[in-house]
Amino acid sequence: MKISARVGQVPPSMTLAISAKAKAMKAEGIDVCSFSAGEPDFATPKHIVEAAKQALDEGKTRYGPAAGEMKLRSAIAQKLQTDNQLNYSAENVQVTNGGKQSLFNAILALIEPGDEVIIPAPYWVSYPEMVKLAEGTPIIVPTTAETQYKITPEQLKATITAKTKLFVLNSPSNPTGVVYTPDEIRALAEVAIDADIWAISDEIYEKILYDGAQHLSIGAVSPEMLDRTITSNGFAKAFSMTGWRVGYLAAPVALIKATSTLQSHSTSNVCTFAQYGALEALTSPESPGCIEQMRQAFAQRRTYILDRIHSIPGMSAPQPDGAFYVFVDISSTGLNSLEFCDRLLEKYHVAAVPGIAFGTDTCLRLSYATDMTSIEKGMDRLEQFVRSL
Ligand code: GLU
Repeated sequence: MKISARVGQVPPSMTLAISAKAKAMKAEGIDVCSFSAGEPDFATPKHIVEAAKQALDEGKTRYGPAAGEMKLRSAIAQKLQTDNQLNYSAENVQVTNGGKQSLFNAILALIEPGDEVIIPAPYWVSYPEMVKLAEGTPIIVPTTAETQYKITPEQLKATITAKTKLFVLNSPSNPTGVVYTPDEIRALAEVAIDADIWAISDEIYEKILYDGAQHLSIGAVSPEMLDRTITSNGFAKAFSMTGWRVGYLAAPVALIKATSTLQSHSTSNVCTFAQYGALEALTSPESPGCIEQMRQAFAQRRTYILDRIHSIPGMSAPQPDGAFYVFVDISSTGLNSLEFCDRLLEKYHVAAVPGIAFGTDTCLRLSYATDMTSIEKGMDRLEQFVRSL
């Protein structure tokens, strides 16, 4: 059988593959400490689960509009206005199968063969692959720990060519956890407007911030920027709803019409009763307290894990001001990230994602969206491994 070149060029998602391997080892009875997938270990808050159950009882089990339930699209637009100062209405919003489909839809609707898409590295594993699937060209811009793994406006400007259509911004970042300051966001927006390119702003971690870090949506910088911005977000991380697969995309109406057409031929609507759970997540007065409780737990784990990393000789990581990842430099060990993570998993039963998945082979990603006992045990083992090298 010959697989199409379009799909044949793309490897499977390494974040999903490693977390599946860790789960399979656990099922075999191996005591694995998993720092792999970015998946909060908390149960979805009860009021959200109850709303979905009620929707089931009320028979909300039928096909719905491909772009999403109108009530949910309105609530999302309202949220984007209130939380993010983004001037969107319901028709600017599409409900998607997780944040992942929102990015995929937008890239497929916008990119033509040969269009260049600027992606700062380290990047989330799926961005370049989505661009390739759309037959665009990912242009990877390496960043370093010295700039906290952030792309500078100068770098962005220097990378733009006549073929550049889009650049990808992800703040707070997966895999580094770094957060662009409002001034940094404004400076990037200025470059994008001057060069007449689009931005995709992946804001899935916006609610998970530490030490007073501030989140600014790039589309809120000016109406000119809003016209060239695609805002992507979802319910998975803030509300611990990973398996529900509800995300969304907000953009100019013409683009939402195109992505809705696309979705009408692929997945159609997102699971109808799951959308009612998401509606409850956005509108219930109980939700902010639940988000804060989880954020505080992440904050505690972050302090612990950073202390442990800094106490291991040769290990370092930039201070993550958001999300639930630490991006650890392992270059002093002389191992590449795949070798390091393979040996760590096979011999010490600790799962981590090699930095190569994110375009940076000298690092690895630890997700601390897991319980404290596993973090303590896993860090003991990681330390043992590094000291044994
Ligand atoms: N976004 C999460 C991660 O990076 C979930 C896995 C995935 O979709 O890649 O671990």
